[in-house]
Amino acid sequence: MPELPEVETVRARLEPLLVGRRFERVTILDPRVTRPTEPQEVAAELEGERVQAVERRGKYLVVRFETGRVLLIHLRMTGTLRHTREGTPEHDPHVRVVVNLDDGSDVTYRDVRRFGTWLLLEPGQDAEYLSKRLGEEPLSRAFTPASLAARLDRRRAPVKAALLDQRAAAGMGNIYVDEALWRAQIHPLRAAGDLDADEVKRLHKAVRDALKAGIARQGTTLRDYRTPDGGRGRMQTALRVYGREGEPCFRCGAQIGKTRAGGRGTWYCPNCQPLMPNGTDG
Ligand SMILES: [Zn+2]
Repeated sequence: MPELPEVETVRARLEPLLVGRRFERVTILDPRVTRPTEPQEVAAELEGERVQAVERRGKYLVVRFETGRVLLIHLRMTGTLRHTREGTPEHDPHVRVVVNLDDGSDVTYRDVRRFGTWLLLEPGQDAEYLSKRLGEEPLSRAFTPASLAARLDRRRAPVKAALLDQRAAAGMGNIYVDEALWRAQIHPLRAAGDLDADEVKRLHKAVRDALKAGIARQGTTLRDYRTPDGGRGRMQTALRVYGREGEPCFRCGAQIGKTRAGGRGTWYCPNCQPLMPNGTDG
């Protein structure tokens, strides 16, 4: 599932290809992409719009048009965006949207599981829509140990669940939460509100470091995720803990364990991410 580093990679690749381009023709083949709005209606509204900026907020790709309208694309489980100059493959049953741009190139949206969404907002609607759903952007200056502490304060949920909830810090999913908790040496089942100031500080740095590592390697390709030119990310070979059950911890050599937290398969080192830190009996 694409998380912040994957969406950021897509954004960075699409930005120079889309800015200044006009959406000439838009074909939405699956009503689930735009529901409850009719796909033909959204397609007609998008035609003629010229792209001013391609931004990202959390896991949302934010396409800003010169008219002030904003298209929010969420890739969910298996959505991918592909930019081509040689036309769209006609026999691919998983293509959900095709955008023909005014320079003759195409952007194709493909989604096997069909959970991804395209939402067109009128000018001025995006700020409230996004701030209601998302916490601080973890790579921005607004994300500080204090802002993270405030978001985790008094929460009884496991810290893993709190970080999967996009309101604690935007953009993380199962992979990068596990990676951040391993880096911070915090057990995924610790109650979020029980972390002390030093642990929150470590977690803050670990979140940023884990996400930056993913961006530097163009994201993690386990299955579906692709960059807009069809390439794969390289982070899957540099993961420290995610998916490494039974393998030695890179820090201490103990066997990586697996549990469930926040409803998701969760990997951690039982030795350097203790459930009861400092020998306290909790
Ligand atoms: Zn370890």
